[in-house]
Parts: sequence; structure tokens; C-alpha cells
Amino acid sequence: MATCEKCWREAGGNPYRYEELISTRPPCTPEESAGPDAGRCPVCGRMTLHQHCGDCMACGYKHPEPIKIKGIPLNLVPSAARAAEARALAQGAKEKP
Ligand SMILES: [Zn+2]
Ligand SMILES: [Zn+2]
Repeated sequence: MATCEKCWREAGGNPYRYEELISTRPPCTPEESAGPDAGRCPVCGRMTLHQHCGDCMACGYKHPEPIKIKGIPLNLVPSAARAAEARALAQGAKEKP
């Protein structure tokens, strides 16, 4: 579960204080938890996409993971390395029986 942005802010970024907040008070609304920069969820239509991780705090929609090559998000892989990787993948596909 993504962190609650509202509680996190009120805890001043202190993880112990944060744990205390979320365990001792009624849960915040999904809108509050998603943060002031939350996005609109494509599934439930609420402004509840968590501002950092992109997961919906209301319906449980999961933001798709970015495509990664060897653990590096594709948009950060230098294009030459990406091209080589694509060639290797294509060759691997051909070699399969
Ligand atoms: Zn909260
Ligand atoms: Zn949703």
C-alpha cells in the first residue's frame, strides 16, 4: 500500500510519527491519501492516483510498471544499449525451436 500523503506530511516525513498517525486515527479519504498532485484514476474516475507511485487509493488500480531492461527503466537505458538488447531479443526469438 502506498503511503498516505496527508499523514506523511503531517508526520513531517518521520516514519515513526507516520506509523503512529495512521494507526491511531481514522483513515484519511483516498483523495487525501493520494496527495495534492494526485491524478485521475482511469478505472474509478476519482482524483485518487497516488502522486508518487500512481496507484489508485480508492479502487486498488495498479499503475503499470515501467518496462525495464536488466532492472533499468526503458526510458533511462541509452538508446544504443536498447538497440543491442532489441537485436539480442530478436535473435533469441529466432533461435527458439
Ligand atoms: Zn492519512
Ligand atoms: Zn481508482
